[in-house]
Amino acid sequence: MIKRNIGFSNLTAGYLFPEVARRRREYVALHPNAKIISLGIGNTTEPLSKHIAAAMSNYALSLATPEGYSGYGDEQGNSVLRAKIASVFYPGLAEEDEIFISDGAKCDIARIQTLFGSKVNVALQDPAYPVYVDGSVVIGAAGKNTGNGYKGITYLPCTPENDFFPELSKVKKNSLIYFCSPNNPTGATATKNQLQTLVDFAISNGCIIIYDAAYSAFIRDESLPKTIFEVQGAKKCAIEVNSFSKPAGFTGVRLGWSVVPKELKFADGASVNRDWNRVMTTLFNGASNIAQAGGIAALDEQGLLDMKAQVDFYLENGRLIKETLEGENFKKAGVVSYFTGNGPYVWAKFPGKKSWEIFDLILDECNVVTTPGSGFGPSGESFVRFSSFGHRSDVQEACKRLSELQL
Ligand code: PLP
Repeated sequence: MIKRNIGFSNLTAGYLFPEVARRRREYVALHPNAKIISLGIGNTTEPLSKHIAAAMSNYALSLATPEGYSGYGDEQGNSVLRAKIASVFYPGLAEEDEIFISDGAKCDIARIQTLFGSKVNVALQDPAYPVYVDGSVVIGAAGKNTGNGYKGITYLPCTPENDFFPELSKVKKNSLIYFCSPNNPTGATATKNQLQTLVDFAISNGCIIIYDAAYSAFIRDESLPKTIFEVQGAKKCAIEVNSFSKPAGFTGVRLGWSVVPKELKFADGASVNRDWNRVMTTLFNGASNIAQAGGIAALDEQGLLDMKAQVDFYLENGRLIKETLEGENFKKAGVVSYFTGNGPYVWAKFPGKKSWEIFDLILDECNVVTTPGSGFGPSGESFVRFSSFGHRSDVQEACKRLSELQL
């Protein structure tokens, strides 16, 4: 018999959202007439831009013609899209052959872990998008589960006390550091100085940063960096992942990209860009050509305007939720909420309560689904995350119910 992958025997990965769904199902089974509203997961709700959808539709139809048909494309992605991403998001900061098109940021994060294997030290923001931990567990890099995190992972608390920017001195030399900005779930968006501190630390300590910029399109504060490559030295120590999922509503269409600089090297001097190219050509066979046609349309003048409008819509939802959480009922209970206006999440602390307790209370009393903060890491305990992805009428109704909640 073949032994089970050691990673899987340690796995609590994928616990958070299935458990949220299980509790929701259990509640609905007991209360079949409840009108549940989800402010839980970060799934987009608004229809695609017509302009972007038409580009995909036209491309799909052209595939049914002899002139328009194409099969496998380059594994690294359509060169027009790569060049467009370079010029729109990284002018003067990255070149076309440093940009690799993918089927999404989550998939890239998982594949990136194959570059580093099971012996790599891992450090990450706590709380953080669960895939960084879960992917490290699967690959065997996380060590034993202590019940309050994994032994082999260095958790870097990001809390209101440190303004959501971690103390880096605990990070071991030669670590892979996962860093997400704007952050899921806290919404915290690093300043240029903070990113410079992170980059300087990584260079001095032989670390590589996996910078998750999946929410960069939500940044509205012009002074905040939208890519880590705005910071000096970042090309020597960082990989950036990004996605069309949230700004273009491509959560189902699937399209993302990674930037792997040519200056980035392993300890033996080998090029990370070259190895990433091999990972993509070996473990991946290119993003859907229809999705890539949508990506190209998303980056022309009309597409950029449409994406901005979608992001603005979700940011307005976020503002409504934040306003509700500042109501008297929450204030009296000492609830403090954080919404930066640069990301789609509202992060709220309920002092003296456990995250799952708050989740159950809000589900019971308001029929609103949230996400318990403890699922994002030990420092998320006592918090819940409210997602601003929702139809306006649902968000307004959820806010009305929340404003009547007795805490
Ligand atoms: N990175 C972060 C921080 C996310 O929150 C998400 C999705 O919620 C992703 C990546 C996944 O992006 P994609 O849909 O491109 O796989």
